[in-house]
This record gives sequence, structure tokens and C-alpha cells, in this order.
Amino acid sequence: MRSVFMVHCSHSVRYDLPVIDTHAHLTFPEYAGKLDETLANARDAGVMGVITIACTTQDSHDQLRLAQEHEHVWCTAGVHPLYSDKTPHDWASIREIAKHPKCVAWGELGLDNKHEHPPRSIQDPVLAEELAFIESCKADGIDLPIVIHCREAFDDLLPILRQTTLDRSRFVFHCFTGNPDDARKVLDFGAMISFTGVVTYKNAKDVAEAAKIVPSDRILIETDAPFLSPDPKRGTWPCVPAYARYTAEFVAKIRGESFPDFHEQLDTNTESFFGIKVPKADPEIIARACTC
Ligand SMILES: [Zn+2]
Ligand SMILES: [Zn+2]
Repeated sequence: MRSVFMVHCSHSVRYDLPVIDTHAHLTFPEYAGKLDETLANARDAGVMGVITIACTTQDSHDQLRLAQEHEHVWCTAGVHPLYSDKTPHDWASIREIAKHPKCVAWGELGLDNKHEHPPRSIQDPVLAEELAFIESCKADGIDLPIVIHCREAFDDLLPILRQTTLDRSRFVFHCFTGNPDDARKVLDFGAMISFTGVVTYKNAKDVAEAAKIVPSDRILIETDAPFLSPDPKRGTWPCVPAYARYTAEFVAKIRGESFPDFHEQLDTNTESFFGIKVPKADPEIIARACTC
């Protein structure tokens, strides 16, 4: 086990073990003028960094700017299926954003059958365009992992992804809301699975069951803030990156894994999947948190 910090205490929250919120939307207006405070609160909870996820071409530009302004914030570039009608999609400029070292993934992209708008007749061609675009970038040496949005669409989306030449282990199905059978389909495909606060909800037992069967080296944790605050903050708007801590604690518990071991595995997975280094916890925060 990693021993960067030799702090040992009986607190339920281990501030000495840093994590990253691997999926939030920090350009949402909810954080306007409050981003420094939001990130400081996250650090106080041991959430030392955030990957902020793009939804449109313009948002990809905005996310990169935000990532450049904050040391431990990284971004993605891409078009979300629920924003697929927000044209034009400027793939050339998305390509330029992806070349920046702070841009660590494509996405989020995929299919959404839960929402009626925009209809699949708009979502599908944009997904096809985006996947072909990512393949062409890969051929040019821009090779990033891919954040997948899949709502009630596993049987539609997996066959489409199978037809690409993209490396299956480089996909993460974010905000997993399926059941164990859906999880098995994604695992058989070869992708990672990431859980939000939904896994903590009492009425989402299937999602919790799914979280138990994901192999340790294939699991990630995120908030999808401003959406989906986990228990015990369910219903709080907006969700904030600090709450990734609650979801990580919950998932460690239901998997029967010790909290430090699970967090260490999360950091390993985050670092290898996104190619970033999880920042170390601030010694001042550790000093404040651990008085025993
Ligand atoms: Zn999503
Ligand atoms: Zn999202």
C-alpha cells in the first residue's frame, strides 16, 4: 500500500488519501463566481482535483480555459448526446483543444434514450460523426480516452462502439445507472465503469449491486456535478466535487473493501486511465483533520 502520508487515525474520513472527481461540469452557471471556493471546499474534503467535462464545441473551449486557470483541473472536449442539436459542431476546433496537455479525454459522447429531446434521429448521426472524428484524430496521434454517456441505451450503443477501431479499454461508461446485467455487458465489451451519487440512493439497489461486480481495476468514482448529489446530501443543489467523497466511501463499504485500499485503487485507475497524476493531499488539511 502506498505510504505517501504516514498519518494513521480512526476517523471515518481519511483526509490523507486524496481522490479526484473524474466527472463534473464546472462551467455550469451554478459555479460562476464561486469556483475558487468550490475547489477549496473540495480540497478540504480530500478531493484534490476535478476533470471538468464538455458538452458542446463552445463548452469545450470554456472548459479548457477553466482548466488552464486552475492547477488541478483538467478538461475534456466533445459533444454530449443531449446537446447534439446545438449545432454547428466544430470538430476542427475540438481537435485543437484536444491537443492541449490539460485536455485529458474526449467527451462526453454517446446515446440517451431517457430523454426525448433531442431525438435519436439527431443523436445518432452526431455520435457517428464524433466517433469517426476521434478515429481520425487517433490516426494523427491524438490518442485520448473516451467518456461515454449511456442512458438506457446499452444495447444500442455497445454494437456501435464495437464497430469502431478504438481501443475498448480506453472507454469509461460514466454515471452508470444500469443493473448487474448491463454492467456485465460493459465489462465484456472491455470498458471501465464510473459511479455517481446514484449508487448511494435507496431506490437504486440495482446500481449498487452492479458496483459490487466491477473488478477493482475497472472502477471509477465521480459526481456529475451539478447533478445527482449523493446521500447524505441527496436533493442538495448544486452537487459539488467535494461530494465525490461520499460516493467513494459508500462504494468501498458495499464492496467490502477498506476505505484506504479502495481509494488507493481509485487513484491508480484515475492516473492510468486519464494519464494524470492525482495531487497529494495538502499537509495543512491533514494536520487540521487528524488531531489524534
Ligand atoms: Zn453524462
Ligand atoms: Zn456529465
